[in-house]
Amino acid sequence: MIQNPIAWPNGARCAAAITFDIDADSLIHIARPSDGFNRLYPISMGRYGPTVAIPRILDTYRRLGLTQTFFMPAWCMERYPETVEAILAAGHEIGHHSYLHEDPTSQSDAEQAYWFDRATAVHRRLTGQAPRGYRAPVYNLTQGVVDRLIAQGFLYDSTMMADDIPYLVHANGGELVELPTHWGCDDWPPFAHYAEIDYMMPVRAPSEGLRAFFEEFEAQYEAGGFWMPILHPFLTGRLARWRQFERWLEPIVAKGDVWFAPLETIARHVLAERERGQPVRVETLPYFERPVHLGR
Ligand SMILES: [Zn+2]
Repeated sequence: MIQNPIAWPNGARCAAAITFDIDADSLIHIARPSDGFNRLYPISMGRYGPTVAIPRILDTYRRLGLTQTFFMPAWCMERYPETVEAILAAGHEIGHHSYLHEDPTSQSDAEQAYWFDRATAVHRRLTGQAPRGYRAPVYNLTQGVVDRLIAQGFLYDSTMMADDIPYLVHANGGELVELPTHWGCDDWPPFAHYAEIDYMMPVRAPSEGLRAFFEEFEAQYEAGGFWMPILHPFLTGRLARWRQFERWLEPIVAKGDVWFAPLETIARHVLAERERGQPVRVETLPYFERPVHLGR
């Protein structure tokens, strides 16, 4: 059961957004700045995303009539402009996902501001508009980034985990829609094996790893909620995994009672519902102004 459920358009039973973070080989360059450029295995593993998986995923979306959201570090957008073009040509959204997958918690405010704005400039140049949404690399969102998103007029964030369904974040007199994530809907735990960035998990069979996403969907569908997998083309876009994902998706899309939309559209719907007087839950930030510890 969900408190204060959101009514979805056209009487849809639940909302859904399949999100892909196209990190490509930014991960190895940011993790190993001195020698990442010469580590060909992780570079090639990352390149599989934009070059092989994204055409496959876009083909599925085209066949099923879905419009969705992708997040892409700006360096990847510059490195793979044909991927950006293909995504935009099909009407999908691209959200802000840092410049080179740098971690906001390891940056000074000045560094964070510089690379954040540099990434936004790439979005403007390659997509013709500023990004409406943001997802922090490795979920490492900070209050400084939230403040920056609000100050720059972002519509939504999709990094935090305080609810099952979209909610509002109020901070410093401003507001963001939060389209919440959680680890149970992320494909790193079941599918990533990446020793170079200290992430070594037992790789699951496609059916076993994907079952978690499908069970998450069943619960959200039953409760009238919001289902949002956080996927990576180089993981879930692999042949056997995407084959199963696509076959599972087909009858759900065909049934027609799930609202699949880009995050921007879902966020605008949440604000419209609030304007209609519907209750939408609010989290007020900052959570803390100073460290919490057993001090005096
Ligand atoms: Zn990422």
